[in-house]
Parts: sequence; C-alpha cells; structure tokens
Amino acid sequence: MNLAHHLLRAAKADASAPALLKGLIPVANYGRLATTVASLAASLQQRFGLAKGARVALLMKNVPDYVACLYGCWHAGLVAVPINAKLHPREVAFILDNSGAAVVFVTSDMASVASEALALGTAKPQVVEIGSAEHRDLEKTDGIAIADVAITDPAWIFYTSGTTGRPKGAVLSHRNLLAMSMNYLAEINPVVSGEALLHAAPMSHGSGLYMVPHVLGMGAQIIPESGRFEPDEILELTAKRDGISFFAAPTMVRRLTVAAEASGATAPGLKAIIYGGGPMYVADCKAALAVFGPKLVQIYGQGETPMTITYLPKSMHIDAGHPRHEERLASVGIAQGVVQVRTVDEAGRDVAPDEVGEIIVRGDTVMSGYWQNPEATANTLRDGWLYTGDMGAFDADGFLTLKDRSKDVIISGGTNIYPREVEEVLLRHEAVAEVSVIGRPHPEWGEEVVAVVVPVAGRAVTREELDQMCNAWIARFKRPKHYYLTGELPKNSYGKIVKTELRTLLGESSARLTRMD
Ligand code: AMP
Repeated sequence: MNLAHHLLRAAKADASAPALLKGLIPVANYGRLATTVASLAASLQQRFGLAKGARVALLMKNVPDYVACLYGCWHAGLVAVPINAKLHPREVAFILDNSGAAVVFVTSDMASVASEALALGTAKPQVVEIGSAEHRDLEKTDGIAIADVAITDPAWIFYTSGTTGRPKGAVLSHRNLLAMSMNYLAEINPVVSGEALLHAAPMSHGSGLYMVPHVLGMGAQIIPESGRFEPDEILELTAKRDGISFFAAPTMVRRLTVAAEASGATAPGLKAIIYGGGPMYVADCKAALAVFGPKLVQIYGQGETPMTITYLPKSMHIDAGHPRHEERLASVGIAQGVVQVRTVDEAGRDVAPDEVGEIIVRGDTVMSGYWQNPEATANTLRDGWLYTGDMGAFDADGFLTLKDRSKDVIISGGTNIYPREVEEVLLRHEAVAEVSVIGRPHPEWGEEVVAVVVPVAGRAVTREELDQMCNAWIARFKRPKHYYLTGELPKNSYGKIVKTELRTLLGESSARLTRMD
C-alpha cells in the first residue's frame, strides 16, 4: 500500500475537485495534480536514476508545489525528507548527510541556505529549484504507474532536534501515516470534498503531515498568499471561504484570538483549529472558544508517533457543565483510538491514576526507529513501546495531563529547543566556563530561551559575542532571548546542575544573577 493511491483515487473519482489553492485562487484540481505527480515521479526515477527507498529532501517554505513534491516521492517509491526551513545551514547539512538524500527540492528563498549547507556537508545531492525551467520540465515527462511498496516501507523521515544536539530522523512508514490519517478522519476532524486544510504552520511538520488525511478525504490544500501564519490573512480567508481547518501551535491560536478580538472578526468559515505541539493555557483556550465557538480540537503527539497520542475533542472543550471541565481543558485529553497509552515508573510498571509516570505509546502510528541510529532507537523503543520522554498523569477517567518533560526540552512557539544543543554552542566561546540553558514561561511563546553563563575567571564576555556564536552554529529561533551572568550554577551533590533551582532564581530575579544587556 502506497499513500500515493489516495491522490490517484481522488483524481479518478472527481478530477475537477479543487486540490490546491493559493489563498482563494485555485492552482490545481485533483486531475491536474495527479498528472503532475505521476510525471515528477517518472523524472525522479528516470532522469535522476533513483531506485525504491532512495531519499529526496524538501528544503521548502510553504508553497503549493510542496504537495506535488511529497506525493511525487511516494508515487515513485521514494522516501521524503522534509526539512524545517528555519534551520541553520549546518543543521541542514547534517540532515542531508545523515539521510543520504540524492535530490533536494529547494524553494528560491532557501537557495542560499541550500548552497551553504552543501558547502558544509559531504553529501552532494542534486538540487532542483522550485519553479525553475528544470523543475517545470521534470513535470512534463510521461507519467508512470504508482510504485509498489510494502505498507511498512518508509515514506517520511521526520527529523527532530536530538537531546544530544544531533537531529534524529524518525522513520515513518506508509502504515504509520495511514493510521494517523484514519484516526484523524475518525476522531479529530472528518473531511469531505470541498473542505480545505490551510497550511498556516510549516509543511515540514504537523501541517504537512495533515496533508495526508485531507487528500484521503478528497479535500483541498490552501497555502496562504503570505506562505506563513498571518492572523489577519487567516481571518480574511475564513470570512470568505467555508470548511477551513488548520493545525496551529498554541501561540498561534492566541495570536489569532487577539487579532479577532481587535477586528471583531468571527471566522465563520472556520471548521476546526487542531492545536498542539506545546502546552496551551486554559485562559487562552477559553478566549479562543469565546471568539470562534466550538472549533477547537487539541492533539498531543510527537514526531515518533506523528500527531497521535491523545486528543481533546471539540465536544469536551465546551462541556462547561462537567464537574471536571477545568481539569479536562488543562489536560491533553484521552488516548487516540489507534494507540494504547500508559504511564509507567522507571521499572516500566504502570503507575496509579493521578501519579506521574513516563508516557509510553504502542500502536500503528509508532515509528520503526531512528534513521541509522540503533542506539537512540534502542533507548526510545523498548518491548514494542515508544518511550516519549514526556511525564504525565492519567486521572481515573483516562484524561492525561502533562507534568514535565524528562528530556528537558524547551517549547517556544510550539517548536522544540533542546537546551544541550544551545549550551554546546555557547561553550565554544573561550570566555564561557559553564552555562545552563532553560525555558522561562512567556505569555505569548509559552516559553522563552534563557542562558545563564559562568564566565572564565578574569574574562569578560558580551551578549553580542554570544549571539554571534549562536548565529554561526544554530537556527535563530534557538538563540537565547536573554543572558544572565553568575559566579556559580546551583548543583546537586553529584555536581549536576539543578535546573529547577535555576528557574526559581530566575523567577525571583535573584541577586545571584546579573542580566547582560
Ligand atoms: P515534536 O516531535 O516536534 O512534534 O514535539 C513533540 C513534543 O511536543 C511532545 O513530546 C510534547 O513534549 C510536546 N507536545 C506535543 N503536543 C502537546 C500538547 N498538546 N500539549 C503539551 N505539549 C505537547
């Protein structure tokens, strides 16, 4: 079973149904999209000589061509490697090398990042610039039949920032994405022809994953004219077109609510906002419900079991008469139907209701492992269970509340930032003796990145120098927003930095910390 069959099925059933739009302007119907995809697949096989299982990277911002590139890979039996367009060229170079991508599709605004990445890495994939004469020529080759792949064959390698500072590629099979999609259609958001998924968040992540159920449901994909999340643009689109759903990080929901409150917009064409990827404040959730009505669905998932661990359906967002309504709004809901979810102690035993344990997941959405990383795979997949690294507690009704993250990850604007990655970069500065990077609560972004630095005795270090170090090595969104100096970091008896204490010191604006400005 190949996911590309969904697209062909839609094209056969209703070739004229809208498949792709840029804003409100139609770009392609299903007939045209399926033809383009079959041609692109032929070119990938014949002109580039790619055999089944070869990797093709997508270093692309949100554009309508994303859909054809992704399905073109699948149609040809290839594995897509979507790359976050916000990453630093060094991080892109790592992913290109690690995945062994033979071809990379690049939007013109990412061309300089691609050439820097190619200069830094060892892999030398062929670059195809979206919209170039070469690219359009690839779409003119005679189409081929859909490649025969096993349902367990890889379809998408989803790179997550690793705790060790090295991204890890979660290998997602056709079955994983099919199970995710079936569950989406059954529980999260049923889709019918004519409805649309708006790509307001990066298509390399959650928004792009949800392309699959929307093609399965024969709905359309809308790429905003701006190519990104612009609250006023979304409010305008949802005033003019019905049946629009989109995936959003909690911070986006908040920004959209604020924009709607300011303009008086009510987004009548909005069908669902599926939010997740980071914690949502209950107050923000209620404010969004007050403005948009019962359109919110929460999901909790991670790249390793894409979008599929638990969910809080629309009905439970508005069940205000329920005695535990507030707790439920603060939770991530109940297990999604295709997976089994448990909370366990360090020995892997189930913990009692209301007790905190590590969240583990089993089911058809769970990845087969990390790409060429048996050690990380063995750590994360144990006895058929995915160890998420998230800590949480189930209540007696089966509602899960996240408590902490054992992996220490900072979630800012719905994006994961691993402190260790930032710490390693800051430690490259010769005047930095020690550093600890933590997340501090932020009303808009959820958390912001803060670094606390111990300088080498007798040496001075400036904020500009530290910023420069980050700019040279990591994506801009990972750079600390604030730096503090201290003589000594709080440590436990084993010498391990106690981040909880550091967070308290920061919260109290302790005299032990001096802000660098
Ligand atoms: P990623 O693999 O980049 O999708 O990040 C997944 C991580 O984001 C999870 O392991 C959680 O820590 C966090 N996360 C995802 N969904 C939610 C949610 N609804 N509420 C709170 N945190 C979430």
